Amino acid sequence: MTLGPGRYDVAIVGGGLVGASLACALSPLGLKVALVEAVTFKTASQPSYDDRTLALSASSCRILEGLGIWPSLARHATPIREIHVRELDRPGRVIMKPGELGLDRFGHVVEAREFGAAMMEAIPRLEKLDFHCPASVTSVSTGENFARIDYSDGKDEVSIEAALLVGADGANSFVRESLGIQAELHDYRQSAVICNITPDEEHRGRAFECFTPTGPFAVMPHVNGRCGLIWCVPSNEVDTLMAMPEPDFLYQANTRFGGHLGKFLQMGKRSSYPLRLVRAAEDVRSRAVILGNAAHAIHPIGAQGFNLGLRDVAVLAEILADEIKLNPRADPGQVAALQRYSDWREPDQRGTIAYSDGLARIFSNSSPLAATARTAGMLAHAFIPPLRRQLAVRAMGFRGRIPRLALGEPL
Ligand SMILES: Cc1cc2nc3c(=O)[nH]c(=O)nc-3n(C[C@H](O)[C@H](O)[C@H](O)COP(=O)(O)OP(=O)(O)OC[C@H]3O[C@@H](n4cnc5c(N)ncnc54)[C@H](O)[C@@H]3O)c2cc1C
Repeated sequence: MTLGPGRYDVAIVGGGLVGASLACALSPLGLKVALVEAVTFKTASQPSYDDRTLALSASSCRILEGLGIWPSLARHATPIREIHVRELDRPGRVIMKPGELGLDRFGHVVEAREFGAAMMEAIPRLEKLDFHCPASVTSVSTGENFARIDYSDGKDEVSIEAALLVGADGANSFVRESLGIQAELHDYRQSAVICNITPDEEHRGRAFECFTPTGPFAVMPHVNGRCGLIWCVPSNEVDTLMAMPEPDFLYQANTRFGGHLGKFLQMGKRSSYPLRLVRAAEDVRSRAVILGNAAHAIHPIGAQGFNLGLRDVAVLAEILADEIKLNPRADPGQVAALQRYSDWREPDQRGTIAYSDGLARIFSNSSPLAATARTAGMLAHAFIPPLRRQLAVRAMGFRGRIPRLALGEPL
């Protein structure tokens, strides 16, 4: 059946990291897709494609290869060859090496902005995809046979219809709220300050995560000898850290990091993000699904947020692909298939949220009991290889039932 103008099989609200990835996954299935994004990709205020460095697990890199995005990203990607985990001023350190899993890297680090550039190249080539941007969604509703999406392009109000509405519009999801889906919120009372930073010594692909009482301090290997710094501080200290003169910032960062890569010599522009856990109570409604940060926004402590969202994308695309193989005229918004998506994703989402939330809470707990538990945990992971392997497998994003794209197989 050919759909008329303004009618789609799938309408994705939010063209950020997760929504745009889903558009790349669905286009080869022959579905007519609308991708509706409020902010153009090149704009400095684009909230998804900004300066943050993203650690992508090995499974995410495979998914991106399957979506055809990896070739444009690869030249900006830095392999992660070791992960060093420790707690500030306490004994014990875990060094994870991918060789323990028979691999030569855990994944790659890529700047979110490069991701936006890769998407700008990919999107115009996608067949049967209409990219509505800038287009800020102002109303969504679902009916028996289709969902309706209204947006403003700055001049006019436009309405489109789709058999399936996908909310990929981030942690403050308008789609989630409009569908009446409740969400659990937890304010970590921390903010992450990020910037590029250049150390004295070569990083040689080493990623460092240091847990401190005020949140993690992570240094990710990046291109041209640079590293990506993520420094979490209590919310009431973020303004001071953002306004601190560069020499003072570098001094403080060097003191905290302890010279593992020599001294930090230079730094780039700083940005800050308040940290909250957002977990939707449901992710599927008749003719609608929410995914990525719209369904679960997590603390960046384990660098899992986008990796988790990409697995949502891989599973939804696989379920729709299988439906279409069985029946080329299958309705992509039928609730039975969406429920299969939800059931498949639930254990991975629950486990990943519990892992990052648990880490964030235990490492900011100042009680002596929690400190002892942390040291014991760290030492256990340092000396018991199966535990370390478990941690490494999680870091690489291979757990539970693995979607075909993450295995390097076609949809
Ligand atoms: C400091 C920091 C470091 C991180 N590091 C990592 C990491 O190393 N690895 C990792 O896997 N994850 C990491 N993450 C998490 C990752 O950034 C998120 O998981 C990811 O951005 C989620 O993508 P998304 O597309 O779901 O949402 P978003 O990135 O929030 O994108 C939502 C999109 O929807 C659009 N939108 C919103 N409302 C509307 C509307 N009404 N109409 C139209 N469009 C709309 C927005 O403009 C935006 O483009 C980190 C997060 C932070 C804060």
